[in-house]
Formats: sequence, C-alpha cells, structure tokens
Amino acid sequence: STTDEPILRTENLVKKFGQFTATDRVDLTVRRGEFRCIIGPNGAGKTTLFNLVSGALPVTDGSIYFDGEEITTLSPSQRVRRGIGRSFQISNIFGGLTVRENVRLAAQSIGRDQYNAVESLFKPTDRYDEMNDRTDRILDRVGLADVADETADALAYGDKRRLEIGVVLATDPDLVLFDEPTAGMSVEETQETIDLIEEVLVDQTLLLIEHDIELVMELSDRITVLNRGQILAEGTPEEIAENQDVQDAYLGG
Ligand code: ADP
Repeated sequence: STTDEPILRTENLVKKFGQFTATDRVDLTVRRGEFRCIIGPNGAGKTTLFNLVSGALPVTDGSIYFDGEEITTLSPSQRVRRGIGRSFQISNIFGGLTVRENVRLAAQSIGRDQYNAVESLFKPTDRYDEMNDRTDRILDRVGLADVADETADALAYGDKRRLEIGVVLATDPDLVLFDEPTAGMSVEETQETIDLIEEVLVDQTLLLIEHDIELVMELSDRITVLNRGQILAEGTPEEIAENQDVQDAYLGG
C-alpha cells in the first residue's frame, strides 16, 4: 500500500435499524497518521459508525476498506488482526488478573501476532520469551512497569487508563477507535488521558469520538461532523469553526 492511500475508507455506508437510518450514505476517508475527531449531536450516528468500522454491527449497505482491502464482512476479531484496535475503557480489562497478565493476554490472544500457549507445549518455540519481552516493552511504554504484578482491580484510576491503552497497544493496531475516552472525567483526568494517548500512540492513526469541543479543536488534524447519520462537514479545526452549516446545526449559531 502506498503512503497516500487512506488507511480507512467507507463508501456509501448505510446502517438501518428497522425503518430508522442511523448511518446515511457515509463516505469517510481517513489518512494514515491522522488524529481525526468525530463530533455531532447525540443520536448523530457516531457510535454506530464505530460499530460498523470495528465489525460490531453488520452494514446494511456500502463498503469499508482498511489499508486498501475490503473488510466489510470481516468479523471483529479478523479486523483486530488486520490492525483495527478499539478502546472500550474499563471493559477490555480482566480485574482479577495482574497488569502484566492483562497485557500479555491481549498480545497473545487477540492481537495480530497470535501465540498459542498450549500448542507451544508440544512444539517448543522461542515465542514465549518474545511475548514476555513485548509485554515488558508495552508496560514500560505506558508507565506501568512498577505495578506490573498488581491486580488490575487494585489500580488507581489513572493507572487503569494506562492499562486500557496498554491492552489496545498489545494488539499492535494501526488504527485506534476511541469512543469518548474522557467521558465523566475531571479536567485534570481528561488532560492526563489525552496526554497519554498522544504520547503513547504516536505511530497510530487515531479516530476519536469526543464531545468536548475545545479539546476537539486542540487535538484534531481534521474533524468530521455527523448530523442525522450524514457527514455534515469535514475539515481542519479552523475550517470547521468557520463552517456555517456546522454553526447552524451544531454549535448553535
Ligand atoms: P451517537 O453516538 O452520535 O450519539 P448513535 O450511533 O449511538 O449516536 O445512535 C444513532 C441513532 O441510532 C440513535 O437515534 C439511536 O437511538 C439509534 N440506534 C443506535 N443503536 C441502535 C440499535 N441497536 N437499535 C435501534 N436503534 C439504534
């Protein structure tokens, strides 16, 4: 794949729930390395779009291309293996396992570079050490090396956020989807989370649903505005701030 080929492209994407159209002919193009925020009022179809891209929901019509290949009908786990990571905040974490176990499990079982521990009992390989090394590198990267042997449940709030990002990173994604990663957070927690995302996920393309418009303006390379299932506008923060359609429909004039 060439560098100017978009990492993600949807073509005429449609999702209907009965008679209701939640995603209405969406043509979305995301370039490799972009930080893209998706904004729009409640019910605009932001989460539905993520569910279509991650494979959590089947499309009604249209196509999805990742890295130049069609993925429209692939399962969620097949998409993870292609390099689409999704952060679910706390729900990706096993509370009773240690920090290290959580990261290692993600690396060996759901990521691209899968490793079958049982199989390796019969066919010894050096993959075991490789997986441990990778796990350690990720723990370092997200700043959890010191608490690697604590159970996830016992972690402080900020460290849980770090672990969640570590778990996503362990799947070796090229694209990461974040659905309101700062929802319910204080101003300081929000800033910490955003700093962490920007610091750790430097090699990834980021697609983020975010309601805090100031944050969106500060973070985004480009912004996509959804309204009633359609793309209302798309552009740089400056372009979006000046867009009359966006002001009328979303920013309240
Ligand atoms: P947003 O994330 O922008 O708030 P959603 O994608 O969650 O919007 O929802 C878009 C619309 O689709 C809403 O009107 C919502 O009620 C509807 N919707 C979402 N999921 C379902 C579902 N599983 N069944 C029926 N309607 C749904």
